[in-house]
Amino acid sequence: MKSLPNEPAAGAWPVTVALLERWLGRGTRVDALLEEAGRKGPGALSGEERARCQHLLFGTLRNLDRLNAVLRTLMARTPRARLRAALLVAGFELFEAATMPDGEGPAARIVHHAVGQAKRLLSPAEVRFVNAVLRKLAVAPGLHCPAPDAAAGAAEQALFFSHPEWLVRRWQAQFGAKATRSLLQWNQTPPPVYGRWRGPAKPPGWLQATPWAGFFVVPAGHWPEVERLLTDGALYLQDPATLMAVELLDPQPGETVLDLCAAPGGKSLLLADLLEARTRQGGAGVPAGRVVAVDLPDNRRLGRLKENLAKVRTTAIALVQADILKLSPRLLREHGLPVEYTAVLLDAPCSNTGVMRHRVDVKWRLQEGDIAKHAGQQLALLTAAARFVAPGGRLVYSTCSLEAEENEGVVGAFRQASGNRFRLEQTRHGRPWEAGCDGAGVFLLRKKPVACLENGRP
Ligand code: SAM
Repeated sequence: MKSLPNEPAAGAWPVTVALLERWLGRGTRVDALLEEAGRKGPGALSGEERARCQHLLFGTLRNLDRLNAVLRTLMARTPRARLRAALLVAGFELFEAATMPDGEGPAARIVHHAVGQAKRLLSPAEVRFVNAVLRKLAVAPGLHCPAPDAAAGAAEQALFFSHPEWLVRRWQAQFGAKATRSLLQWNQTPPPVYGRWRGPAKPPGWLQATPWAGFFVVPAGHWPEVERLLTDGALYLQDPATLMAVELLDPQPGETVLDLCAAPGGKSLLLADLLEARTRQGGAGVPAGRVVAVDLPDNRRLGRLKENLAKVRTTAIALVQADILKLSPRLLREHGLPVEYTAVLLDAPCSNTGVMRHRVDVKWRLQEGDIAKHAGQQLALLTAAARFVAPGGRLVYSTCSLEAEENEGVVGAFRQASGNRFRLEQTRHGRPWEAGCDGAGVFLLRKKPVACLENGRP
């Protein structure tokens, strides 16, 4: 018998199947899988193939429950992971084609292509199975049924929009049925690629303007140029939602900003750029600002943080690799850094429920009990962050979660535990279905000035 290949054949489709097979088997994070697939080397994907691979993998994971449910009706038992992955990827292609106004043609082409590719990955018997199942899948009513309206129950919404039912119920209780349906629909829609223009030249004309100053949609078809702009640091891929926390902190010329939980550095870079622009606007004599970025020493994103900090032009940058919970004034002094700051940002780790449109596997990893665990960790981090805020200084707490428990819940518990030493000055919620970008919860807290604290005034 001819042995089956262990290594995936090159090309977007077989690489996607191989990545999905690994995800199904071991639950490896999708961003880590894609990063690996993007590495240079023999058989590496070209820029266009990489984009196609991401499209297929993200699309399949976005619609996983629905695809699985329809496939289950066509098969007597669950096949091995590689075969299942091939059926799911082709299933997503059929599902996507069904939303386009081209009738039966694309479906026949998709089946033909998938069967041809499957010959490179599967046994002859499995290829025949793929052929038979996909032909039925192409016309299966479950793949083509209309979306339920907002009045439909959580189970129906969860299956159609491929989300865990507990999460749909949770959102329905928090936001109501109509907003939840909008959010589910939002999460299922592939996002545009957003980039922030960092100059110094004018942005190229093919970047499409957005309502967010400095942010552009990066259209497909310019990959070599985009890669060059990213390497030069002129463009940084980033969702406009990242603006909220930085705008609320509002760093001032000459200020030293403590950026806690900094990796991979999107907000550090934004803070540094804003400080640079404001210092320049301030004219001669205005002191340059500084960003002190802190993140865990054993963080796999530290490499990207260092790469990003290296792109900062004039703002001074200090990197401290430390656990915030153990960060001591002594360690800061040893780095020649202040122990108190007038501006502190805590961009806390969270459930990521506001960014599920981008991070498509989060919904399959997240468990109901995780929200409370995140809230506990966030409260500990916020309490630790507060030690570094100077009297009268600002502390911005930010998450990319939509959950009140991780947002207001944490801020309320923190203020109570800190004896109301912090005033809540502003709150911003980025709700994707209203804001048109990723979700976020951002809170501006101000530590009371010394006199207030001494007088015990509220
Ligand atoms: N601010 C970042 C940006 O804009 O690119 C994203 C931060 S991400 C939401 C949360 C970060 O918190 C992770 O990089 C994680 O390593 C870091 N983190 C979690 N617990 C920490 C701790 N105890 N001390 C320091 N950093 C921590």
